[in-house]
Amino acid sequence: KPMDGRISDLGPPYYEQFHPPVIKENKGKWLWHEILKPGILMHKSETGAEVYTVRCGTARLMSIEHVREICDIADKHCDGFLRFTTRNNVEFMVDDKAKVQPLLDDLASRGNKFPVGGTGAGITNIVHTQGWVHCHTPATDASGVVKAVMDELFDYFTSMTLPAQCRIALACCLNMCGAVHASDIAILGVHRKPPMIDHSRITGVCELPLAIASCPLGAVKPAKATVEGKEIKTVQVNVDRCMFCGNCYTMCPAMPLADPEGDGIAILVGGKVSNSRSMPKFSKLVIPFLPNTTPRWPETVAAIKKILEAYAKGAKKYERLGEWAERIGWEKFFEECEIPFTDKSIDDYRLAYDTWRTSTQFKY
Ligand code: SF4
Ligand code: SF4
Repeated sequence: KPMDGRISDLGPPYYEQFHPPVIKENKGKWLWHEILKPGILMHKSETGAEVYTVRCGTARLMSIEHVREICDIADKHCDGFLRFTTRNNVEFMVDDKAKVQPLLDDLASRGNKFPVGGTGAGITNIVHTQGWVHCHTPATDASGVVKAVMDELFDYFTSMTLPAQCRIALACCLNMCGAVHASDIAILGVHRKPPMIDHSRITGVCELPLAIASCPLGAVKPAKATVEGKEIKTVQVNVDRCMFCGNCYTMCPAMPLADPEGDGIAILVGGKVSNSRSMPKFSKLVIPFLPNTTPRWPETVAAIKKILEAYAKGAKKYERLGEWAERIGWEKFFEECEIPFTDKSIDDYRLAYDTWRTSTQFKY
């Protein structure tokens, strides 16, 4: 039964039904919170009520059995309530300190399935997109890369030893439904070649005006081609103008652009959405291309680890990665992280004269 007076059950259920009683009763009354240990938070209300939150990393793509297990844990310890964070952590909340240890013991008894951590000055789970499992335009995988990276950074998830929090995000194409553009470390799938046009299929599977209208850079134009001796209407791509985004492929399955050699990963760093100490920042490109070396992406893992370790060593307490790079200077950042600074790292806006390609990267 809808709780907010709505007369239909269309749309998401009203969120208040999912609030644990202690959260609902203390709405608007929470005074402060602290992190008791990595992964364990305590919020205090002006009524004296306390809520203890245990945060666990999850795999994001989960089996039904795993979801059932999460629900069983919530039923056993939290009256059936739980919540997922935007970074794919699951949080179990209890209203009494005495309930925390039994919950932790239960989680620990389930092997490594529910690592507790992801709070404060550490690495939390990597927010990521769909990858090769679900989407049609990825230039890299999502879950596979994230698994390889998090396996290497796991100790930073269960501890709080970094200067400040470090948010890592992955988007598997530059449409970025993962919003990596404001992350401390961003892993971005990039295509490097324009779409291939399959003229023999295009008539059957595409609405040509849609394919033409889908291109944000106006690079797709009407054209004619000869297929099996017959002239057909098709499209052509102005390659110099194309930014390899894949939008046309979204509209037209006869314009694929995935390519084993052209596709790979770019690394951007230094973004954040918080406005504490300094303004929010966009991430900047620091590594233009790393190959898709499946199944463990060693080049990407090594590059991220190097950046993170240089940051952990050089930054002051509370300094975010981008703030550290700006304090020491970006030249020094490239040196510290042993990243070559190439012309590909620079956007001098000259490309904009002929291609409309611009970015937020370094200028001369
Ligand atoms: Fe699809 Fe791009 Fe989103 Fe990845 S980032 S899921 S390829 S739209
Ligand atoms: Fe246009 Fe993007 Fe297709 Fe290139 S990949 S032609 S920029 S829609």
